[in-house]
Amino acid sequence: MITNRYLALDPKAYGLPDAEELRTLLAAYSPEFSPGAPDKERIPGRGKASYGERPPGGERVLGGEQATDGERIPYGERVPGGERATDGAYAPRVVPLSARTPAGAPENPYPVPAADLFAPSARVGNVPVEKIRADFPILEEKVSGHRLVWLDNAATTQKPRRVIERLEHYYRHENSNVHRGAHTLAERSTEAYEGAREKIARFIGAPDSDNIVFVRGTTEGINLVAQAYVKQFLRPGDEIILTVLEHHANIVPWQLLAEESGAVLRVAPVDDDGQIILSAYADLFNSRTRFVSASHVSNALGTVAPVEEMIALAHSHGTRICIDGAQSVSHMPVDMRAMDADFFVFSGHKIYGPTGIGVVYGKADVLEAARPYQGGGNMIADVTFAETVYREAPAKFEAGTGSIADAVGLGEAVDYVSSIGMQHIAAYEQELLAYGTKALSAVPGLTLIGTAARKASVLSFVSAGHSLEEVGKRLSAAGIAVRAGHHCAQPALRRFGLEGTVRPSLAFYNTREEIDLLADVLSKIAGGKARP
Ligand code: PMP
Repeated sequence: MITNRYLALDPKAYGLPDAEELRTLLAAYSPEFSPGAPDKERIPGRGKASYGERPPGGERVLGGEQATDGERIPYGERVPGGERATDGAYAPRVVPLSARTPAGAPENPYPVPAADLFAPSARVGNVPVEKIRADFPILEEKVSGHRLVWLDNAATTQKPRRVIERLEHYYRHENSNVHRGAHTLAERSTEAYEGAREKIARFIGAPDSDNIVFVRGTTEGINLVAQAYVKQFLRPGDEIILTVLEHHANIVPWQLLAEESGAVLRVAPVDDDGQIILSAYADLFNSRTRFVSASHVSNALGTVAPVEEMIALAHSHGTRICIDGAQSVSHMPVDMRAMDADFFVFSGHKIYGPTGIGVVYGKADVLEAARPYQGGGNMIADVTFAETVYREAPAKFEAGTGSIADAVGLGEAVDYVSSIGMQHIAAYEQELLAYGTKALSAVPGLTLIGTAARKASVLSFVSAGHSLEEVGKRLSAAGIAVRAGHHCAQPALRRFGLEGTVRPSLAFYNTREEIDLLADVLSKIAGGKARP
C-alpha cells in the first residue's frame, strides 16, 4: 500500500506485484510518489503542512514552485529567478476579460483561455493528455459559448473518434444480421461481433469469449443475473446480500425478485467515510444466504469496495456473488481470474463505447446453470411446439437481434483504452483525483461526501447555503458539466443524511486545469475568493 494525504493506493488495483512498482509508475505523474520518497504521514517532525507548503523544520512537501510570471513552468525547468519546478508548477496567465469572451457569446463570468485547459506536460502513460483530448471530438464543443468541460463521466463517457468511425464503418461496409445469413455481409458482421466478444474477454481477463454475454447495459445485466440465475434457487425466507452503496440498478431487480419469491434483502453498512464495514458484511452471512450483489465502485461516493475480500468471504460461505463493475471497468485494470467474481457486469457507454450495449461476464458453471433470460430467435438449437432445445451460453442469453454495431463499437473502445494502458489511466486518474480532492477541500463551505481511502473518479460534495440545482446551473453556465441530484443511489446518500450531491466525476481526458476552473467557479459561488 502507498499512501499520501488523500489516497491509499493498493498495487493490486493496478495489476502490479508490489508497492515499489506502483511507486515507480506513479512517479511519472507526481513527484510525491518518486521512488524512495517516504509516505508523507510518516515523516517525523513534518507537522501538518499541506500540499506545496513548507512544514516547520521540514522539507518542502510534494509539489513544486509556484511560477511567478504567469507562465507554466515545465517539469524540471527553472522558474525565472527561482528554484527548480518539480511538478510543472502553474500560475494562471492574466488575460483581460474582453480578450477571453468570443464575440456574440454570453459573457462567461469565470473565463479561462481555451489553450489553458490542459497542461502541456501532463501525460497518460506515454501519451500527452492534449493528444488524448484530440481523440475526443466532443471536447471541442462549445457550451453557452465556452469550451466544454466534461466532468459527468460517471453518468456517461465521451467517445473517441475511433469508436465513432468504427460505427460508421460497420453500417457502411458490414451491416447484416449475425449468425444466420450465408452471404458475405453476414460473415463480416458475425466476424466483427464475435471479434468484439473476444476483445472484451481479453480485456477483462475472462478465460474464454463464451464467458461474455452481450446485453443492453449494467441494468439489463443485473436483471439477467437475478432472473436467469438467482431466481431458480430462492425460497421464502432466503436472503440476498447487497450493500448500502448500490445504484438503484443493483437494488430494484432484487426487490422485484424478493417480491416474487418471498426472499429477504440484507444490506451491508458503510462507515462515515463511505467504506464498507467488512465485519458487518461478514456477519450478514447465515444458512439462508443465497446470493450477494455489490458494486465495485460507488457511483455516488467513488468508494472502491474491497471486492477481493467480499468475494472470498462469500465463497467461504458457499455463496455466489455478482460485482457491478459499471464504475470500475473504465478506471482500473480488472482481471476476472484474479478477482474470482461469479458474475461481473458493466455498460459500454461508461467505458468510451456506445450506449445500448453492455456485458455480463459469468463463470462457465453459473452460465450453464442459468436459465435463458428471454426467449426468441438466435438462442435456440431446435424448436418444436412440444419442446425447445437451447444453445449453449452465451447464445442462450442473447435472444433476438442484438446491438451488433454497438458491440463492435465497444470492442473498438476497449482496444483504444488498452492501447494507452489501463494501469496508466488508473495512475493518471488517481493523481487527478488527489489534486481535485485538495482543490475542492479548499473551497469555502464545501463538504466532500465520500472520503474513503480507496476511491475512483468521483468527487461528490454539498455546498453550504447553495442548492444542488443552483450549483449545477452555475457550473453549466461556465461550460462545466457535472451531475447534481441523487445519482440513482438514494440509500447511499441518505446514509449521510442527504437527498443529493453535486458530483464531478473524472476521466483520463480531464486535466488539472479543468479542476482549477471548477474550484474557481465553486469558490465564486460560495462567495469566497477565487484561487490566486
Ligand atoms: N451501477 C452503477 C454503479 C452505475 O453507476 C450505473 C450507471 N450510473 C448503473 C449501475 C446502471 O448503468 P446503466 O444505466 O448503463 O444500465
